[in-house]
Amino acid sequence: MFDTLQDRLASVFKGLRSKGRLTEADLDATMREIRIALLEADVNLAVVKEFVAAVKERSLGAELSKALNPSQQIIKIVNEELVSILGGEARTIRFAKQPPTVIMLAGLQGAGKTTLAGKLAGWLKAERHSPLLVAADLQRPNAVNQLQIVGDRAGVHVFAPEPGNGVGDPVDVARRAIEHARAKLYDVVIVDTAGRLGVDQELMQQAADIKAAVSPDETLFVVDAMIGQDAVNTAKAFDEGVGVDGVVLTKLDGDARGGAALSIARVLGKPIMFASNGEGLADFDMFHPDRMASRILG
Ligand code: GDP
Repeated sequence: MFDTLQDRLASVFKGLRSKGRLTEADLDATMREIRIALLEADVNLAVVKEFVAAVKERSLGAELSKALNPSQQIIKIVNEELVSILGGEARTIRFAKQPPTVIMLAGLQGAGKTTLAGKLAGWLKAERHSPLLVAADLQRPNAVNQLQIVGDRAGVHVFAPEPGNGVGDPVDVARRAIEHARAKLYDVVIVDTAGRLGVDQELMQQAADIKAAVSPDETLFVVDAMIGQDAVNTAKAFDEGVGVDGVVLTKLDGDARGGAALSIARVLGKPIMFASNGEGLADFDMFHPDRMASRILG
């Protein structure tokens, strides 16, 4: 997904390495190239501006003039600023002092929420938690079945409205699921909510109602990294409409340019906590800003 960015930055740095001392003109040219590389990779414009300004300021300052190897120093600065844009420290789930910890997943239809719910449950189980999956996506007829399938795959129980009881009220299902978790001593509850094709008022209201009913410890916004700048805009809309604590990027195995998704942490000021890179249960990991930066910088 980050091939464009990787290739472009690699060629910027290659040019840089062949120089000994750097003139101010060299530095300007390098900043221009970095700016173009980031924009071509679809990184959000405001984030690019901030990034380039920070790298330039540090490069012009004492850090570079004192350096024995200026080009190496610039690469180090770019790396550190990239880690910062990506959110700095890795952050995992903040577990409630009093179980169950409630995690609510929100996002557009097709973002990968249901798939992610299974992955997250499987991951928590491996971390010796006892998660319960909750089917509060009652919009799509097949959503409950789909959650059941991923739950079975992860070996995790799914709380769903009883068949034959009509469509059901997702807020009521979510509320009853928390009671069930308390009674049966599940320590983490993962609530899968309905998405729509686009951001709309009804969707936001339903997500906000579920949130108000279950007071999640973590509201995670799940977003398909392939949708480019829309990922940033949708993230903002969900943060304003529902309030999110963290972001999960999905479909990082795709061939889109990916830069937009990488801008989300900085634009929202919320951490990217997990990343999903395939349809399998194991195609999932915590998001580590430093590892991602190293990967991008090659
Ligand atoms: P939801 O509507 O948000 O619940 O989305 P789903 O979980 O149903 O996922 C939508 C589609 O994307 C399904 O076909 C998933 O198999 C697929 N999908 C989910 N996550 C990933 C991922 O990380 N990589 C790829 N390639 N496909 C994914």
